[in-house]
Amino acid sequence: MEIDRLGNWRRTHYSREITPEMDGEAVVVLGWVRDIRDLGGIRFVILQDREGTVQVTIHRDKAKRESIEKADALQRQYSLGVKGVIKKTEMTPRGIEVIPEEIKILGIAQHPLPLDITSRIPAEIDVRLDARVLDLCRDEGRAIFRVQHVVLEAMRMLLSKEGFVEVHTPRIIASATEGGAALFSVEYFDQEAFLAQSPQLYKEQLTLSLEKVFEIGPFFRAEESHTRRHVNEFISVDIEQAFATEVDVMNVLEELIQHVCEAINERCRRELEVLKHQIEVPEVPLERFTYREILEELEQEQIHVPWGEDLPTQACRKLGNLHSNFYFITEWPTESKTFYIKPRDDNPTSCEGFDLMWRWVEIASGGTRVHSKEFLIQRLREQGLNPESFKYHLKAFDYGMPPHAGWAIGLDRLMMVLTGRKNIREVVLFPRDRFRLTP
Ligand code: ATP
Repeated sequence: MEIDRLGNWRRTHYSREITPEMDGEAVVVLGWVRDIRDLGGIRFVILQDREGTVQVTIHRDKAKRESIEKADALQRQYSLGVKGVIKKTEMTPRGIEVIPEEIKILGIAQHPLPLDITSRIPAEIDVRLDARVLDLCRDEGRAIFRVQHVVLEAMRMLLSKEGFVEVHTPRIIASATEGGAALFSVEYFDQEAFLAQSPQLYKEQLTLSLEKVFEIGPFFRAEESHTRRHVNEFISVDIEQAFATEVDVMNVLEELIQHVCEAINERCRRELEVLKHQIEVPEVPLERFTYREILEELEQEQIHVPWGEDLPTQACRKLGNLHSNFYFITEWPTESKTFYIKPRDDNPTSCEGFDLMWRWVEIASGGTRVHSKEFLIQRLREQGLNPESFKYHLKAFDYGMPPHAGWAIGLDRLMMVLTGRKNIREVVLFPRDRFRLTP
């Protein structure tokens, strides 16, 4: 089939902007065929655009022959344009329909489609991800990424207001940020390089010049774990602040979380409705529990976690039943955190590192950083890392490194919480995991 040219047709209104008061006005609407129904001599075409739907009604006895032919050729997900007149009606939920004067078919779709865009027939997540561009045409997909847009905008606004400067650190790096095996290697001309797993060392170095920085971008972890909260490429929202401790940056973090929740409640009413989800704006300060208190709480629930260990999934699940919103876990054992987290002055076996949790999910982690060069070298050695691999980072400590602190939020994890999705892949446009590198 030949498709029509857009020519000089431009949208006059999104579907949602058309109201019964506009009865008799001329419009051009552009979008996709969501649904088609026939009733006697009438064909109803539901046109979907980014903002919603509008019914286009073709009366066989009144419409031009060409419009009828075009309307008959339409199938779901065809892209179309309709130039017509708005008519007030009692017959549609929105009280309006568009009576076409001319229809253009602007793009065609191959049938059968791999999934039902109306969501009436649910599909498995893998089927959906294989046809992700089409999957994103469903209302839920659009809603999730519009919420994400609002989240990012709210974050940028608040952090800018707090004096943080947005930066971009390299994604291609010469050596491990935190050590560990979770690095993807890449060929970099005749050298081996790696994809950054976090902006940690660069953001710390930048406190030397810019004092307060933030970065929002993708990072890479070559973790084999295949869970509903891990992907191998994820978006991290990072801050780092000079002359600050964990308490200062926890304050920024809780303010940010509250601000983001408020922004969604204010600006994403329709999206939350589509997602059938509600957001409870947390009160600040958020509850803060020490690691020891958490272990004691778990102990009462007959879950024993030896001091020093990370919380296993089963323990986190239990915490999810005991805590209903966001909370902090502080004073982690020094041995459970990476080398750059500062041990406490009063008791070096615990550190000034914290995690932000939402029920059972870890959303963010952060802390005060070690800022003595000698001690950092000692910590690197203690964790089996070679200080030589960190020589450029260590150099920064020869130039007056200020005391500093920061955190990293996993944006995708936060989006799961904010949109009520159970699998992180729902909130990542094109997820990368152990078994998925396409599309
Ligand atoms: P986890 O123990 O849950 O795997 P982590 O301790 O390795 O996380 P950090 O290195 O502290 O995570 O990273 C900071 C934040 O980045 C985490 O709190 C999480 O929200 C997010 N994050 C880390 N790894 C992943 C991943 N593979 N997929 C999605 N988000 C991640």
